[in-house]
Amino acid sequence: MNEKAPNAGHRHEHDDAADHDHGDGGSELSEMDLRVRALESLLVEKGYVDPQALDILIETYETKVGPHNGARVVAKAWTDPEFKRWLLTDASAAIASLGYTGRQGEHMVALENTPQVHNMVVCTLCSCYPWPVLGLPPVWYKSAPYRSRAVIDPRGVMAEFGVRLPDSVEVRVWDSTAEIRYLVLPERPAQTEGWSEAQLATLVTRDSMIGTGLPATPSDIVQRAS
Ligand code: FE
Repeated sequence: MNEKAPNAGHRHEHDDAADHDHGDGGSELSEMDLRVRALESLLVEKGYVDPQALDILIETYETKVGPHNGARVVAKAWTDPEFKRWLLTDASAAIASLGYTGRQGEHMVALENTPQVHNMVVCTLCSCYPWPVLGLPPVWYKSAPYRSRAVIDPRGVMAEFGVRLPDSVEVRVWDSTAEIRYLVLPERPAQTEGWSEAQLATLVTRDSMIGTGLPATPSDIVQRAS
């Protein structure tokens, strides 16, 4: 968030670095970190939250759940037409069949990109995101500029991510809700005939499943390796 809060008493993290010398040794933490810590201590103190359960939850989303799950879904849809049909008609069930279920993924909808249509996902209200397939949302996804500009100027936002689509491609922006979470099914990159599901999954980027990016191409992989 770059905008300044209107009330002077509520300052954002880095706009007053010079007079941040409170001698509390905690000036490295952002305001959000401090708020989260305060909230966590309070909940633990009141006995509402078990700190160990919290650690397990965080570890799960940091290591086990992440965009590699979504990549597997996409790669399977690229290679298995039956699975793709299922994904596009009942994404929650198709995704659950691969073992990806859980909070914030109960009502999934898959959006297919085609040469004519490009889909992009936002949550204009807050930060709703399909955790079981993509993990925790990136910071920019939760930021006010993304949330407002994705709707007003999706092509401008995509350009900042390095994506430029021909004018002939229709861009559709989908607003997540507390109910529905979206997964973009990007187009399978060219020159991947004969690739295995596992190989294809390496091309599926997180941003390509949000719609702010495109999958990597075989030549990107060669460049990465060299
Ligand atoms: Fe939200």
